[in-house]
Amino acid sequence: MIYLDYSATTPPNTEVLNTFIEVSKNFLGNPNSLHKLGLDAKNLIDASTKQIANILGVKEKEIIYTSGATESNNAAIFGVIENYEMRGKEIITTKLEHSSIIEPLKFLEKKGYIIKYVQLDKYGRVDLEDLKNKISNNTILVTISSINSEVGIKQDLNQIGQLLKKYPKIIFHSDITQSVGKEKLDLTLVDLASLSAQKFYGLKGSGILIKKENIELAPFIKGGKSTTKYRSGTPSPALIASTSKALRLAYESLLAKEEKIKELNTFLIKELSKIKEIHINSNKYSIPNIINISILNIKPETMLHALEENEIYISTKTACSSNSYSEAVYTITGNKDLSNTSLRISISYLTTKEELTEFLNVLKEKIKILTLNSK
Ligand code: PMP
Repeated sequence: MIYLDYSATTPPNTEVLNTFIEVSKNFLGNPNSLHKLGLDAKNLIDASTKQIANILGVKEKEIIYTSGATESNNAAIFGVIENYEMRGKEIITTKLEHSSIIEPLKFLEKKGYIIKYVQLDKYGRVDLEDLKNKISNNTILVTISSINSEVGIKQDLNQIGQLLKKYPKIIFHSDITQSVGKEKLDLTLVDLASLSAQKFYGLKGSGILIKKENIELAPFIKGGKSTTKYRSGTPSPALIASTSKALRLAYESLLAKEEKIKELNTFLIKELSKIKEIHINSNKYSIPNIINISILNIKPETMLHALEENEIYISTKTACSSNSYSEAVYTITGNKDLSNTSLRISISYLTTKEELTEFLNVLKEKIKILTLNSK
């Protein structure tokens, strides 16, 4: 098998799986229980939270555990609008956001909120001048992801944060799901941030919302006691300890992993550029982990399944998108044909050059066959 869909999800690290099993076996108490078993579970969560906060450069009390970035994004958006609704009804975002941002915003638009999409430059980067112009007295929230999941465009969160600092009443949220574990983070100027453990070799169903201590949020999931008042439900010591382990491991030897991915990316882009049917949609602001291409005249689903016959796994666009074309590719290229035919190859430090060579050989073969079939 050749797995080239690491941006959709990563295989859990074996050490992470072992942590999950060990903690599930040995910490059976409900962390909210007052007896010793409860306390042991709570202490384990606290130790994990300390490690997570340390790595992310935030305070322990700023960590809210969720079921994933989808929930974190929803909790951030709905928590802000409920808590700060008196401040205004305008939200600013981009056309490069994940569906777990776009869909809540579309819902709010129907409820009377004004959603403004900030202009992007030709590389898909936020136009700061336009962002400034779009801000009004009614703006309560700006939500911009650090890295787009389809084309891999990386935004400069610090520049955006510097601009937003001049507007203390506006809350700045960032979906940092595609950044965590891939690059060092600086969340100094971000008020709220969402992430998901499944993207850094952790487990699916485990996420975090970072909420800076000066920000208040209405709880999205209401109920009984948990690690914070912002998200009810019995916290899972096993998931939380696994997430903490996954995060620590992801940041181990980060430079060496980054170097390897850059090398693989250079090789892949060079080889893909030689195939005349292929157009590369990623650009110099895409992270090296994500290579987005279009093969005109071949349906992405057809190519995906053709590669699957050889046990090669890539993606048509993000696994969660509801559109039939790629909004991100369209936004960046302005070309409907390219956005209708885009494919995402996402690599990891686990990827080998041999895997990429095999992938390229099979890809060329499939292009030949599928082009002939369509004639
Ligand atoms: N945001 C981004 C940028 C993502 O890539 C994903 C996962 N595809 C999510 C949010 C949602 O994460 P989860 O499915 O773990 O909730």
